[in-house]
Amino acid sequence: MIDTHAHFNSKDLKNLKRQIQIIESLTYLDKIINVGLDYQTSKEAAAISLKYPNFYATLGIHPLHSGTISSLKKLYETLDCSKVVAIGETGLDSSTKEDITIQENKFIETINFANEINLPIIIHANNTNKQALEIIKENLPQAGFVFHCFQPNLEIMEEIIGIGGYISVATPITRPTAKKSLEVIKNIPLENLLIELDYPYMSDNPEIDGKNVFNKIKELRHLKYNDLEDILDSNAKRLFKKL
Ligand SMILES: [Zn+2]
Repeated sequence: MIDTHAHFNSKDLKNLKRQIQIIESLTYLDKIINVGLDYQTSKEAAAISLKYPNFYATLGIHPLHSGTISSLKKLYETLDCSKVVAIGETGLDSSTKEDITIQENKFIETINFANEINLPIIIHANNTNKQALEIIKENLPQAGFVFHCFQPNLEIMEEIIGIGGYISVATPITRPTAKKSLEVIKNIPLENLLIELDYPYMSDNPEIDGKNVFNKIKELRHLKYNDLEDILDSNAKRLFKKL
């Protein structure tokens, strides 16, 4: 399995090295995309990817974190980014009093950067699916995009799929209250689906949670383990071409 969105960095995790070693030893998980949230965590993600075979990285400024896109460009120019597979996470988050146009401008700047270097982008949209989609439609990411930890909405899902986007689901689909998420899983074309844990934000035990998320999809789509694994892995490799 490929976990398409995790945060292994020294800001989010204690005993980072030990945690990386544990993840590297899990037999069911073969690749992890370690997502940058700001300058420091992006730099660290790139360094971790060079040291640990299963780890890949992204460079990004999360909408709730500070930092400039030009600082990311500098990282991209100066570091070994051979295992940087995407740009982000970027996007919009309404849980702040900050003027949303600041986030919008950074989002657009991030898309332009990703287009310059031909990498896909990872989108964070917290209560902003519609607004984020509008920006995407006007500034189409040339190498593709994913709405990570998708907040379920069938109409938005259709629109994302219609312009070639991907949707990534995480542990919320395993909650007993996840009615809307289950509708998304039942209706999405399988070739547009990705899986993630968003560790440590949406998961406290990647081994158990990973299997639960995977099994939920398997059950809802009546698939065999190996078939679902093949589909999800090839989706991830289609979007994140450097995996
Ligand atoms: Zn994230």
